[in-house]
Amino acid sequence: MNNKGKLVVISAPSGCGKGTILKGLFDLDKEDNSLVLSISMTTRPPRATEQDGVDYFFVSRDQFEKLIDEDQFIEYAQFNGNYYGTPRSFIEKCISEGKTVFLEIEVQGAEKVRAKFPDCVSIFILPPSLEELEKRLRGRQTDDPKVIEKRLEIAPIEIARQNEFDYRVVNDDVDRAIDEIYNIIKNH
Ligand code: 5GP
Repeated sequence: MNNKGKLVVISAPSGCGKGTILKGLFDLDKEDNSLVLSISMTTRPPRATEQDGVDYFFVSRDQFEKLIDEDQFIEYAQFNGNYYGTPRSFIEKCISEGKTVFLEIEVQGAEKVRAKFPDCVSIFILPPSLEELEKRLRGRQTDDPKVIEKRLEIAPIEIARQNEFDYRVVNDDVDRAIDEIYNIIKNH
């Protein structure tokens, strides 16, 4: 990894294995320790396994809207009825320290980040097929069936925007996808 800080934007429909891929990337980077993951803020309620300050900063709509007014987000969007946003101060600090910062965000947010930071690297992760995505989402059992249905409706809309990204990676084999993304980031 070189010493210049950079922003990496990763988008993928829910159920594409983003979490596993990110974990794999951070494992590969253990020695370099040059990658950091931005923790987003959301108004979505936490899932049973999620921790405040680790998976997200969980806040109320009022709190979120106050932070919007104070220009504290580099981007934010609404997804499935909830706000999600990237806090500004952490990103700016990491970039100034030469870190590579990952933003794991949906496609509207990715568009805003690309407009503000044209040097960012944007990567879209694709499922092997929509059938496979549906199988993974239904098997996950962390979301309410209604939420899963909604996510399955959103997925093709997001996939239709894949060409807006610098790179597209198919998660047909998770180790291969991790290597591909790691090489993209190193060589970009
Ligand atoms: P989930 O509810 O599954 O954690 O996230 C729903 C969607 O919101 C995912 O596509 C995720 O990448 C996206 N997301 C998470 N954090 C942010 C953020 O800070 N900004 C935007 N625009 N999207 C986000």
